Amino acid sequence: MEVKTINTEKCRPITEIICGKKPSLSFEVFPPKLESNIESVEKAVKEIATLSPSYMSVTYGAGGGTSKYTVAIAEKLKNVYGVTPLAHLSCVSSTRDEIHQKLTELRDRGITNILALRGDLPEGFVAGSLDYKYASELIAEIKEFGGFCIGGACYPECHPESESSAEDIKHLKEKVDMGCEFLTTQMCFDNDILYNFMYRIREAGINVPVVAGIMPITNAKQIKRTCELSGQLLPQRFRRIVDRYGSNPVAMKQAGIAYATEQVIDLYANGINAVHIYSMNKPDVARQIQANISEIIK
Ligand code: FAD
Repeated sequence: MEVKTINTEKCRPITEIICGKKPSLSFEVFPPKLESNIESVEKAVKEIATLSPSYMSVTYGAGGGTSKYTVAIAEKLKNVYGVTPLAHLSCVSSTRDEIHQKLTELRDRGITNILALRGDLPEGFVAGSLDYKYASELIAEIKEFGGFCIGGACYPECHPESESSAEDIKHLKEKVDMGCEFLTTQMCFDNDILYNFMYRIREAGINVPVVAGIMPITNAKQIKRTCELSGQLLPQRFRRIVDRYGSNPVAMKQAGIAYATEQVIDLYANGINAVHIYSMNKPDVARQIQANISEIIK
């Protein structure tokens, strides 16, 4: 997994990709949690990269335990597969020194796109007990460090810890003011919620490009886990699909991919130029969605 060569050639900035004329379609992968899973993750990364997406993001394990893999996968995407990487980086369970080391490592390896996150709080952990409390502090730090295109997360259905959507948007504006150049949304299963959110953030003076995050739900078990973790609501229309096809894995997968495809087409048709698929290391799902919209993203 470790790629030894240091390549300082920078990546194309994500902002340049998502603001281009061509609709942007990107995919997400996550690093292995265990050493023993490296091979299967590498295989999935390679297969997804072969689809030549606009860019690929690599998540950062909560607590940073798998961060060496995030860097190694991002580096391989850039140097071996020729795909622009976006490396996630979370701060809440790191010290300032550790973040500086990570930034130096990323910059040395020419990985110059970062999705800057607070990270989920480990059980019993209080945000701010180390050096960072909010993602905005990490964003300010990366900005000062220099040399990165910085993205952040946003929540069309409100972050679960926020008292209100207005409060959440107020803090989102702080992230942008600190130097966040683009935003990626939490998964959303109802495009109308996303359009409404877009309207409200623009009204609040947040004018950076927004990438819509779409999660294809391809099995019934995944639904419960996903909604519990993210607090997202499943629209009635999708729930009916699950009720009808949830016990038939092949049919459920087909329906989930069709639902996500329909969402993506609607987003592009409504002027959202960039869609990020939470492809969860599933090359077949990424491939089918891309094939379904091949003419649309030309
Ligand atoms: P923040 O922007 O800091 O917001 C967290 C909460 O604090 C919000 O409720 C916000 O309104 C509030 N807040 C912010 N500033 C203030 C302030 N000054 N005063 C009071 N309240 C404030 N997690 C991972 O561990 N690894 C990943 O790779 C990863 N990738 C993600 C990618 C995307 C696109 C998204 C949407 C989420 C991702 N997450 C990831 C999950 C994310 O870490 C969690 O949702 C986390 O709980 C919040 O992170 P944030 O960066 O949005 O935090």
